[in-house]
Amino acid sequence: MSSRPLTKLTPMLEQYFDLKRQVPDAILFYRMGDFYEMFFEDAEQAAPILDLVLTSRSKGQENEHPMCGIPHHAADGYIAKLIRHGLRVAICEQVEDPATAKGIVKREIVRIVTPGTATESSILDRDSCYLVALLPSESGVGAAYLDVSTGDFFVTQYESLGDNRLYDDIARFAPREAVVPRDATSDLKSGLHIPTTPVEPSFFEARGAHDYLSKHFGTQSLRGFGLDGDDLRTGAAGGALRYASASHKRTLDHVQALRVDNDADFLQLDAATLGNLEILDSRDAGRPRATLWSVINATRSAMGARTLRRWITRPLKSKEAIFDRHDAVDELTRSRAILEPMTQRLMKIADLERVTSRITLRTATPRECLTLAESLLMIEELAEAMTPLQGPLLKDYRQRLNLGESTDARQTLRDVVDLIARTIDANPSINVREGNVIAGGVDPELDALRTIARDSKSVLMEIETREKERTGITSLKIRYNSVFGYYIEVSKTNLARVPPDYIRKQTLANAERFITPDLKELEEKILGAEEKSIAIEVRLYETLLGDIAKMTAAILAAARTVGEIDAISSLATIAVRNRYVRPTLSDIPELCIEDGRHPVIEQISSERFIPNHTDVERERNGIQIITGPNMGGKSTYLRQVALIVLMSQAGSFVPAAKARLGIVDRIFTRVGASDQLARGESTFMVEMHETANILNNATERSLIILDEVGRGTATFDGLSLAWAIIEYLHDNPARSGITLFATHYHEVTDLAKTKPRVANFNVAVKEWNEQIIFLRKVIEGAADKSYGIQVAKLAGIPRSVIDRAREILDTLERKERDLVEETRRKTPAAATRQLGLFQAREQSIVDSLRDLDLNALTPLEAMNRLYEWKKTLE
Ligand code: ADP
Ligand code: MG
Repeated sequence: MSSRPLTKLTPMLEQYFDLKRQVPDAILFYRMGDFYEMFFEDAEQAAPILDLVLTSRSKGQENEHPMCGIPHHAADGYIAKLIRHGLRVAICEQVEDPATAKGIVKREIVRIVTPGTATESSILDRDSCYLVALLPSESGVGAAYLDVSTGDFFVTQYESLGDNRLYDDIARFAPREAVVPRDATSDLKSGLHIPTTPVEPSFFEARGAHDYLSKHFGTQSLRGFGLDGDDLRTGAAGGALRYASASHKRTLDHVQALRVDNDADFLQLDAATLGNLEILDSRDAGRPRATLWSVINATRSAMGARTLRRWITRPLKSKEAIFDRHDAVDELTRSRAILEPMTQRLMKIADLERVTSRITLRTATPRECLTLAESLLMIEELAEAMTPLQGPLLKDYRQRLNLGESTDARQTLRDVVDLIARTIDANPSINVREGNVIAGGVDPELDALRTIARDSKSVLMEIETREKERTGITSLKIRYNSVFGYYIEVSKTNLARVPPDYIRKQTLANAERFITPDLKELEEKILGAEEKSIAIEVRLYETLLGDIAKMTAAILAAARTVGEIDAISSLATIAVRNRYVRPTLSDIPELCIEDGRHPVIEQISSERFIPNHTDVERERNGIQIITGPNMGGKSTYLRQVALIVLMSQAGSFVPAAKARLGIVDRIFTRVGASDQLARGESTFMVEMHETANILNNATERSLIILDEVGRGTATFDGLSLAWAIIEYLHDNPARSGITLFATHYHEVTDLAKTKPRVANFNVAVKEWNEQIIFLRKVIEGAADKSYGIQVAKLAGIPRSVIDRAREILDTLERKERDLVEETRRKTPAAATRQLGLFQAREQSIVDSLRDLDLNALTPLEAMNRLYEWKKTLE
């Protein structure tokens, strides 16, 4: 540490630097009595963040250094603040009794709090709190996600650190911290946007990780989890678990299993789509609740909230699994008399995953234990309320909630409830060290000591009365303080009456304090008994936590089931409230939606929502071009279709009168010209980036939503790109599932004449007195013009500007017609695979677009590239 003084250190500073050396990159909270102190740079860094006054220790001496401190009982709030600033906090405690210590009190670091390993309730909100460990190598990137606060743990693999899926997962799981081997940090681009901690490469070493994990789970190998020894994912999992254990300074017993996350089981939503469809976050800062999540979340428990969030960011792909969820929602919507009491009970179930993790980490408070017991009883009531339910999924859930079922240890969850109820006082103190946590009748010795303490206190009262009578001082009082224990206080005016056997201890402004031998004798008895009983309470409480911890697996399993029940109940509640219907699942790639609605707009818009039909079948009319004026409702319609598909595959009913939906493997969207200049990419660059991703990765089962692609550049560029993209999708069936393409380039509607799978739709408007009225209806056929000028007029642009714009438009439209005419002439009429000259040129553009590494392109190069393409097309 740079500011370590060169002079000889005091023993305390000696110890401080020893500890600090173990945690050079954390703020060290050094425990002194009732305070945590910070010194040197730690103090300078933390003081402004925590709003503390920076003071100076050893003033005037050679060792003078900055310091600041906080009371230990308020530490949680301060730690949370530092963590939110991206810092790490190492907590150092006194590990021996200062009263009996020889020399300086022994101290140890007992915990390192980091953003990704927090379990403190002051730091966590309801959301998951993942740590991600990344292990990059030649052959790919192993990744492990661990939520220490709930015990959730899974691994996956990416192709490289540039793999889009990595960023999709980061968007979906929102990890709070990444750990990487120290020697690999240079490979990481700054693109992760989360606090990244370099750690010992040995944490990630595959063989060692394999042994560490096997030992942790008590298994012979990791084969049961679907992992082999020499796997990047094993290394990453080892890195994550070892780092988290090191931060808690103990094994994390509540982390009981490891999953291999298999993308192929789920509907894939890339990060752009999650954002574009506003699944979790709104793009409109003024309407933060304009998200699918806000509209469909009616969960009552923290587990339910986390589960439903997972469901909508990770919808299903298996028809059977989707059907089962629909079925469960269906049954609950028809069983309101069951749903209502279920909801009432779910509301009263605490965050069991978090309580359990704190129990295994031995940081749970006595009240949290009581909460656990109450919640477990509530689970029993929940199961009871569910008894009449018939569907396979709901029945299965209910059976999994059976508290009476015994595990290996022959202990049941009901035993846990009894144990807690028997052991913990009904109204315990916050902390065991304050006493009164263990109930009476649990331990005879504790009961006896408590009686002594209590009886002695009544003896104290007797002494007070006796002394009052003896001295005639009616205001005489027996009091207690921590410096000299019990004492008798006499006010100045009565001093003359103090008997000679009183021993003076302290003189105050208007009173004096005395002790007597029999008072001291009694004091020893009381304090001795209290001290002993606290020691017993602490021991019994530790034992209780240990006993509960043995049932971690069963509690977590119940908690997860509660989460799923809550998520399903929420879907049912919302389905009823918002009048959703159950979709039928189709085996062919088609989407037939009658009177579909946008689930979010219909809730938040002041305008009445106009429902729309969708009838698209990949083979027949799989590419739909939707034209019409700005503000006509194109974007809304596109998102509405995507959201309905997503909701259905998450297990939800959908906002429509009727729906028949083929299962989709991915949803791709390119919606609106999103402004990501903050990331250093131009809007058009982002647009092309996302489009390239679609053209490269879509399959015939994908749903592709393209909204105004090409808008980010000059008109002819944009039109050419839009045209070429649609042609590409049409002519490469393996790369195009159902495609909805909204555009204000109404010229591309001509494509329908030559490409059989392309169909035209438009948003209907009525023209009236040079005004337009939006009907919000999507109808068959192409829009004949753009109506931009009418919209401008509607918005109050001055008359002269409007008139001049009309003139310019006329000229431009004449030019554009010529261009379109020429393009059409160059495109062979029949949709044969034979390439004409123009098509070949177009194909070459699309090919080079596909092969383009957008990450390696400067905006200038991009412009040059466009320029070339345009020239080729001319
Ligand atoms: P476009 O993409 O064609 O420019 P938008 O989809 O952005 O149009 O819609 C413009 C406005 O119209 C939005 O404020 C939206 O809330 C509203 N809107 C769109 N579709 C409907 C509908 N079917 N019913 C009611 N309001 C709608
Ligand atoms: Mg739009």
